[in-house]
Amino acid sequence: MPAQFPEFRLGKVLATSFTATLTERRGDALERIPTPSRLVDWLAVSGLAVESCTAAQHERARELRESIHAAATAAALGEPLPASAVAVINDYSAQGRAAAVLTPEGNRQWRLSSASSVEDALGVIAADAISIIAGERDGRLALCASPTCQAAFFDTSRSRSRRWCDMGTCGNREKKARFNAHKQEVRASAKQS
Ligand SMILES: [Zn+2]
Repeated sequence: MPAQFPEFRLGKVLATSFTATLTERRGDALERIPTPSRLVDWLAVSGLAVESCTAAQHERARELRESIHAAATAAALGEPLPASAVAVINDYSAQGRAAAVLTPEGNRQWRLSSASSVEDALGVIAADAISIIAGERDGRLALCASPTCQAAFFDTSRSRSRRWCDMGTCGNREKKARFNAHKQEVRASAKQS
């Protein structure tokens, strides 16, 4: 993979892995699929390999991504879903013609109608978003506790108490900040005594 592109943050949930291709939305936003070819890379590692992607398809992918982000955020907050986001998600879901197929080993794979059908891949992602926003799957939509992130993520922990979209990044950063604050407090109180 070319070193100049930021790495992907891949989770277990397709729809929120997709929205995580734009991170730090409330801080210095980082676009992880800045080019059509980078979207092709992301689709490949997400089980939705396509041969190519046009600039227009790349644009549509980002439109779907932002609509999923808006609807998932509203759902996590218990607010009404934005009608425009719902319309976009539904459109993409309806346009996709991917078929779920079983491998001989018994795994589910997606078969796209053609090798260049980014629309089919987006349809799968839209349907995945619908299933988590509709509350069909075992888990809870929540917002990342990091103030510069606030990404919607799908919490499947048993206690439903996960606080960060990603432990390795947002979670770690918060822990370090708390640890440093604690160290400073200890130092300050040592000076006083
Ligand atoms: Zn986060």
